[in-house]
Amino acid sequence: MADKPRIAVHKFSSCDGCQLAFLNLGESLLALAEMVDIVHFAEAGPVAPDAPVDIAFVEGSISTPDEQSRIRRVRTNSRFVITIGACATSGGLQALRNHADSARWMARVYASPEHIRSLDTATAIADHVPVDFELWGCPVSARQIVATVRALLFGVPPVPEADKVCLDCKRSLAVCVLVARGEPCLGPVTRTGCGALCPRFGRDCYGCYGPADLPNTDALSGRFAGLGLLPEEVARRYRFIHSAQPALDAAAARALDGHGEDGP
Ligand code: SF4
Ligand code: SF4
Repeated sequence: MADKPRIAVHKFSSCDGCQLAFLNLGESLLALAEMVDIVHFAEAGPVAPDAPVDIAFVEGSISTPDEQSRIRRVRTNSRFVITIGACATSGGLQALRNHADSARWMARVYASPEHIRSLDTATAIADHVPVDFELWGCPVSARQIVATVRALLFGVPPVPEADKVCLDCKRSLAVCVLVARGEPCLGPVTRTGCGALCPRFGRDCYGCYGPADLPNTDALSGRFAGLGLLPEEVARRYRFIHSAQPALDAAAARALDGHGEDGP
């Protein structure tokens, strides 16, 4: 990596929330700007989308024909490509349309759908080009971004966080909302990174950081059924933020088929 690595932050189909995680770095962003050359970050100022860089952070899913060709240019121009957030890493919320008739949805949402040029699906960046590292979360946190940039500046691979949210719950002495209150918490199958943010404030995790390593979704589906959730409600839990992520999509399909640990 160059003495002062060149960095780009690219936006694809997304809400900009993960770019805001960069801006929320505050003073750390100023310190970062001393250590790296931020050559493209349209939301913050510099615009040079086709400039060669050492690290390209990519927010958003691939949802339009233009984005299909643009992500290939980003890959060609970048030494490392790092996805930030749910949309870039799994397709995100907009991938809900992968399970529906997108043309019908467009006709209902837009007054003149003939002007819309979008694909029938919203897909992850890794479905289109090789990705070097993924940061999950909806949105990602400033802490994750700093840790990743720091690792790359030191010349070591960033450390993936794939433990379950439950472990962070225990570490922070949060009361388990699943056990204590019977809330359908997705923490047992969700990767950590947020510090068990929701349970620490007394609400159930809805899985915004994506699947943890080895998620035992059948056991959790059985537990949710025991709480009184219908199969459709269990499936909807898995297909909320990361509906196109294969493990969660399959878990939803199995829940609809009645396969939980207490099911057939
Ligand atoms: S509240 Fe949720 S994340 Fe925390 S320990 Fe219970 S099930 Fe796990
Ligand atoms: S607890 Fe779950 S829903 Fe809440 S921020 Fe963490 S991963 Fe996202």
